[in-house]
Amino acid sequence: MTTPLHNIVAEYLHDHGSMTVHDYMQLCLQHPEHGYYRKAQAVGKDGDFITAPEISQIFGDLLGMWMLHAWHVCGAPRKAALVELGPGRGTLSADILRMIKKNEDATNVFALHLVESNETLRAEQAKKLWQHQPVWHDDIAPLPHELPLFIIANEFFDALPIRQFVGGVERSIRLEGEALIFSPEGNVTRETCPAAQEMLAILAERLKAQGGVMLVVDYGYQGVAFRAQDSDTLQALRNHQFHPVLQDVGEADLTAHVDFTALAETAKAKGLHVHGVVAQGIFLERLGGEIWLKKLQAATVRNPQKAAELQQGWNRLSKPDQMGDLFKVIAFTPEPCELAGLR
Ligand code: SAH
Repeated sequence: MTTPLHNIVAEYLHDHGSMTVHDYMQLCLQHPEHGYYRKAQAVGKDGDFITAPEISQIFGDLLGMWMLHAWHVCGAPRKAALVELGPGRGTLSADILRMIKKNEDATNVFALHLVESNETLRAEQAKKLWQHQPVWHDDIAPLPHELPLFIIANEFFDALPIRQFVGGVERSIRLEGEALIFSPEGNVTRETCPAAQEMLAILAERLKAQGGVMLVVDYGYQGVAFRAQDSDTLQALRNHQFHPVLQDVGEADLTAHVDFTALAETAKAKGLHVHGVVAQGIFLERLGGEIWLKKLQAATVRNPQKAAELQQGWNRLSKPDQMGDLFKVIAFTPEPCELAGLR
């Protein structure tokens, strides 16, 4: 299908010959008019993919309890910012704040700050989170400078553009007739994500100056063993199905697996303390996921279908053959400390 972005890319390639995978991904996701993360419904049943907080409230409940715990570990500051990077439909922030506000000490502590590029999703977030009076930002730079930052990023870093290399050569897109093709041919041997590294470096400075914690959950990999194989993790998702990366340009979600080793190395180099990496299933289990599941099920005795849904949701989040292993959790703090689930 020829899309407006296909024509923009093709025109560029006619004039310049090639475009890096990085620039292609950036354009597909963030072109001001046609970029996927500028307008698409993206997340949820009516979108192209579903995320952990949309699968089950257990995820947001447990992350809310974890945030409350992290806030205590950080000395329970009287005022703080809860920051979500890429909040999707707002479900995760809503669940986290509902959990936090059950604790009287923390009821009025957190101001909600959302970093979001997508106007359609901002409107959804406003509907779900209005009572928390969120403040939206296009980028991390304008986040408050005077408050400790409690940052959560679930499935955010996978949406940032990556560079790919085939041997020593950066992988690009070229035209063959009217079709887009990758060049050079051959296996991808390495990927990097400059935007993730830059963002983490900036947030590291802010955490060191202001205090707080950053929790990253995403699908991804660790270590050089992975990188030594065919390391192509670039993928497109449309209507909950994998889709060819170079087709229907701008109409599918483009993502890449997150390199947790690279994130940890950058954080360490910037003087942060690294907690994890731990597989999502193990992390949620350590936070008492199974017990929380049973507690929620006990409240649904008259509704066996709801109890079964809770069980299914928990299985999907935690089982190694579902999201439990592929998704990973890492946290960063400016000071050494012990954080639940990540020891
Ligand atoms: N955290 C949510 C949604 C994850 S989907 C959840 O768990 O359900 C990715 C989110 O990041 C979307 O809200 C998308 O619009 C946003 N996003 C992607 N790239 C972005 C960027 N460069 N800047 C700001 N937001 C971005």
